[in-house]
Amino acid sequence: MHPFNYYAPESIEEASKILEKYGEKAKCLAGGTDVLVQTRGEKFDLDAIVDVKKIPELTELKWTDSHLVFGAATPCYVLYEDPKVCEKFPGIIDSAFLIGGIQIQSRASLGGNLCNASPSADGICSLIVHEAICVIAGSSGLREIPVEEMCQGPGRNALENGEFLVSIKIPLKDNKFSASYERFIPRNEMDIAVAAVASSVEMQDGKVSSCRIALAAVGPTPIYAQAASELIIGKEPTEDNIKIVSEKAKEIASPIADMRGTIEHRKDLIEVLTRRTISKALERVGV
Ligand SMILES: Cc1cc2nc3c(=O)[nH]c(=O)nc-3n(C[C@H](O)[C@H](O)[C@H](O)COP(=O)(O)OP(=O)(O)OC[C@H]3O[C@@H](n4cnc5c(N)ncnc54)[C@H](O)[C@@H]3O)c2cc1C
Repeated sequence: MHPFNYYAPESIEEASKILEKYGEKAKCLAGGTDVLVQTRGEKFDLDAIVDVKKIPELTELKWTDSHLVFGAATPCYVLYEDPKVCEKFPGIIDSAFLIGGIQIQSRASLGGNLCNASPSADGICSLIVHEAICVIAGSSGLREIPVEEMCQGPGRNALENGEFLVSIKIPLKDNKFSASYERFIPRNEMDIAVAAVASSVEMQDGKVSSCRIALAAVGPTPIYAQAASELIIGKEPTEDNIKIVSEKAKEIASPIADMRGTIEHRKDLIEVLTRRTISKALERVGV
């Protein structure tokens, strides 16, 4: 590993200029729990590390009339120690509380989890089912994209040269919305998901008015299983209807076989976890 420069810009504009100057030879640093390990492992050949934590927008958490907005470098513990975030978005907390142990959660951010774009990342599916929006900065200003467009392949994200993720916006819903995330791992903690599912439901007059399901570790990116989600919209959340959705999610999953699981095992897990996470989300909205 050759020496590289360390920058800690204090504004979005300053960070953009540095990232633009170095292009592919620069990487952002949020919690560093992925990027430092990967840099030490010589995954990249870097000339600059840009620590984004000194930029106020990157670590602030605020509520607007329509959204919860948190900076891309906000550590997981800040989310789960916030009573209002826990109350409104327990599905986000499921993820924040699962990423590594306490030490990792004190540093690791959902923004870093997302930009790292691992198919088995524990934060991304929860963001997808909450209809999260990515606020991205670049030399021409800010742009927004839905979170499900962010991951483009294992370790590849939608950021252009010189761009970085500023914040994540989660739309506020009425009280009848909730979500849940569950993963299967052989050990109880500190492991990579063999398969995982996040589900969200919104209820109106006893029927499911919206539903989102996202699958992890069963494709090259986290998968928004829209065709499965749509099967329950406008219907009552009966066991039979949940079964239909879960079977469709299993069909959509396209895992590979590796040392952590076979294709059949992963697909079966998706069916079980979809059923469980929809049921948990329903329980959280009082159904
Ligand atoms: C012991 C251990 C256990 C772990 N357990 C889990 C686990 O259970 N589940 C799980 O999902 N992950 C796990 N991880 C991986 C890692 O902790 C998570 O992916 C974490 O969320 C990464 O966040 P970070 O803030 O540390 O990101 P960083 O390491 O700072 O960054 C990750 C990547 O995103 C880029 N990046 C960061 N911020 C930005 C930004 N604002 N704009 C553009 N690019 C950016 C970086 O350049 C880098 O490529 C574990 C890691 C360790 C070391």
